[in-house]
Amino acid sequence: MQPLRTRRVLDTLALLFVFAVAVGGWFYPVVGLALAGLMATAVALSVLARLGMARQRAFCNGVCPRGRALGFALKPFTRGKTLPRVFTDLSLRRGLCGFMMFCVAGSLVRALSGLEGHPAFAAAGRIFWGLCVASLAGGLLLGLLFRPRAWCVVCPMGTLQDTIAGSSRKRPANATGDRGDAAPGPRVG
Ligand code: SF4
Repeated sequence: MQPLRTRRVLDTLALLFVFAVAVGGWFYPVVGLALAGLMATAVALSVLARLGMARQRAFCNGVCPRGRALGFALKPFTRGKTLPRVFTDLSLRRGLCGFMMFCVAGSLVRALSGLEGHPAFAAAGRIFWGLCVASLAGGLLLGLLFRPRAWCVVCPMGTLQDTIAGSSRKRPANATGDRGDAAPGPRVG
């Protein structure tokens, strides 16, 4: 458990990072590539978890700025309700994850064909930025309606980590209510 002061500093940095990417990406699309870097980190940590060299959901519990920022920023505003059980359904989560990957891959292929250099980076950044904003919007909506990190239950990046690490399972309905960080779930609340 981190000291309160350290947690507050990290919470603030996470919030600033999420805000900077969400707003900055509109003006400078390459900023969206930060999300691609985070996704690559999540995949790498999940592979290490699969090999027993890292904890399950190490990315969620120690790296992800969005999860941390949602938990920090929405705490005063959330209704604190339990997420309906349907959101914990593994098929739904996998479907959402597959849909996200399909959309990203398809968009990248279409956008990058014939492009190279900075235009290619900008086009790819725009796609990841869009994904970032869409998931942030989902996170804000679920966080306000239910609990601050309710999004973490359905988050495609979380499902991807569980799938790679071999820890996929139906998440408990109350998984959005505590601040425990027991693997494989993310720290929520
Ligand atoms: S579940 Fe998604 S939003 Fe939540 S901490 Fe993990 S990667 Fe971040």
